[in-house]
Amino acid sequence: MPDLTRDFLENYGLYRKYHSPGIHFGTKSDLDTPSLQLYCNRCQGVRTFNELAINRIFADGRKLSGLRHKSVSIGGNDESDNARYGRIIGFHFVCQDCKEEGVNYLVLFNDSEDESVDFEKRGHVIKVGQYPAQAASLPQELRPYLKEHEDIYKRGRMCELNGFGLGALAYYRRIIESIIDTLLNDLTVIFADDDSKKTYQQALVKVKETKVHVKKIELVKDLVPDVLKRGQGNPLGFLHEALSVGLHSLTETDCLEVASEIRDTIAFLNKHIQLAREEATHFSKKMSRLEEKLRKMTSLEGNDQPPA
Ligand SMILES: [Zn+2]
Repeated sequence: MPDLTRDFLENYGLYRKYHSPGIHFGTKSDLDTPSLQLYCNRCQGVRTFNELAINRIFADGRKLSGLRHKSVSIGGNDESDNARYGRIIGFHFVCQDCKEEGVNYLVLFNDSEDESVDFEKRGHVIKVGQYPAQAASLPQELRPYLKEHEDIYKRGRMCELNGFGLGALAYYRRIIESIIDTLLNDLTVIFADDDSKKTYQQALVKVKETKVHVKKIELVKDLVPDVLKRGQGNPLGFLHEALSVGLHSLTETDCLEVASEIRDTIAFLNKHIQLAREEATHFSKKMSRLEEKLRKMTSLEGNDQPPA
């Protein structure tokens, strides 16, 4: 696996910690970077971007003014300072189609094994700069779903991308509240046609009777089918927690984590609803074709029969 993951470079906003305890920049100058799938403005579409390693920039973690090109021997700075503050490296990625459009990242590596440094601060990377800035766009697949909430989504994403956890969380919570009725309703399509579906639909009647968003989720969260449980997690259980938790009890870092998980969870649930719908449409088309075929066969057989 590359030292820097695709998820980190493509999706993480600024100042959100990506834990990578195995990362040891201090001992290697040839960090592995992944290929990225990013929108290229020149090619007008999603393209593969690869790093131009020759353009890596190394800098002391404390002062960006000290940027130097391709200087692996940054160890020239005081080692204990590196351990304490980490090091910043610039990465330049280029579109593989047009070879012109580029994206630049500044990443802070904290790979310290120094026991005097807090454990939390050891082995992580943080994106501290990105140019051009990441666009706060609404993913294509969420567009039909979040239509009138697009603006709120983008504001949330903008906060997330710039490391404003509290703001991101507040906006994303607003989205859950706005779509919760539709979302819970649409989830019916995921259930098989059995008792579990009936139980869910009965619970939905109660959901409609309450105006309290947290209560709505509480009424159905334990009824979700296994197909929606990610690992041990229950996405509705998570949304319930995310709405219930007091904002004052979370740090900025926690808020960022929860916010990004809300965004992921909405995308995850939406994906499953769409898949279930497509499957249902496919199945009913197949059934009508089969019915039609059988009808024709029956009428042909009828024609073959000699007149009585
Ligand atoms: Zn391009």
